[in-house]
Amino acid sequence: MNSADITTVKSILSQPQKIAIIPHRNPDGDAMGSCLALYGFLRAMGHTAQVVAPNDYPKFLKWMPGNDTVINFERENPKAKEVINGASVIFTLDFNDLSRVGQMESVLKEAEADFIMIDHHQQPSDYAKVTYSDVTMSSTCEMVYNFIALLGETDQIDADIATNLYTGIMTDTGSFKYRSTSSKTHRVVAELIDKGADNMEIHQKVFDTNSPSRLHLLGVALSNMVILPEFRTAYITLSQDELDQYNFKKGDTEGFVNYGLTLEGIIFALIFIENREEGIIKISLRSVGDFSVNEFAREHFNGGGHTNAAGGRSETSMEETISKFNDILKTYKDKLNP
Ligand code: 5GP
Ligand code: MN
Repeated sequence: MNSADITTVKSILSQPQKIAIIPHRNPDGDAMGSCLALYGFLRAMGHTAQVVAPNDYPKFLKWMPGNDTVINFERENPKAKEVINGASVIFTLDFNDLSRVGQMESVLKEAEADFIMIDHHQQPSDYAKVTYSDVTMSSTCEMVYNFIALLGETDQIDADIATNLYTGIMTDTGSFKYRSTSSKTHRVVAELIDKGADNMEIHQKVFDTNSPSRLHLLGVALSNMVILPEFRTAYITLSQDELDQYNFKKGDTEGFVNYGLTLEGIIFALIFIENREEGIIKISLRSVGDFSVNEFAREHFNGGGHTNAAGGRSETSMEETISKFNDILKTYKDKLNP
């Protein structure tokens, strides 16, 4: 955010506003953490604020402070539309293009409010009055901390705001291990602990609340893994039948894709998950090093994200999707073996 942006934001927030805060569809820890933290902050600053999520999110995030106030656009559609249409300011957090909110896109496009984007994904679209985009950032939560600091208001960060920000930084950095985790990230995290974030408790609430069926599903995923050493690639498939058999709940497959990267020599990992209701195969892609899964997902699977973590989709069957993927992979042999 440059100084002109800071002045614009200060001027907008100098009067009480009606603010809607929007994460991306299928919100993760960083999306919900940044929205709920900003919600707490804006309320402390005297504004009316409301988080509207495009759809539901996993149970392991539903303990977060302020969670009970979140409106689900899919489930509470009239109320959600009322909030968006009545907003004077709309913050969009942790996404770079309005297509990332699904059905909510048309409602946002018609909204009269001033948009403020805070996001760390590559190639942000130009729809906001203020775009605070920084692809070097570990997480949108780290950016929300910086946003509050740039406004000179870190004194407003209470234990609830700190807890939400800590959660998003922790989940988006793979518990502080990804390359985007900087010394600055650790300084912010230290500050959040000082302000009341209980790091051990947050870790337990997010990671140590597995159901037995989720662990069994992980077993299936791992035994379905296909390893292609010549491409330094490993991929997992999960069919809808397998998900059903293990009582799949939203979020149950979170993190499964990362197991491929724990194999020695593997730098590209994917998981293909069938979603019969939406008629798609949802794809998650991860890499280590310079191989860009953002570009791979954009070019071949209608998706995007970051260099080392991206998502995409395929509208054909699992069999066709895997066959297409194997064909594409052949053209990447050199890039995967630099
Ligand atoms: P995940 O695999 O955890 O769903 O997503 C990994 C990263 O890619 C996240 O930063 C997420 O926001 C982004 N991402 C996931 N799915 C999509 C998609 O369909 N399109 C785009 N542009 N980004 C995605
Ligand atoms: Mn994020």
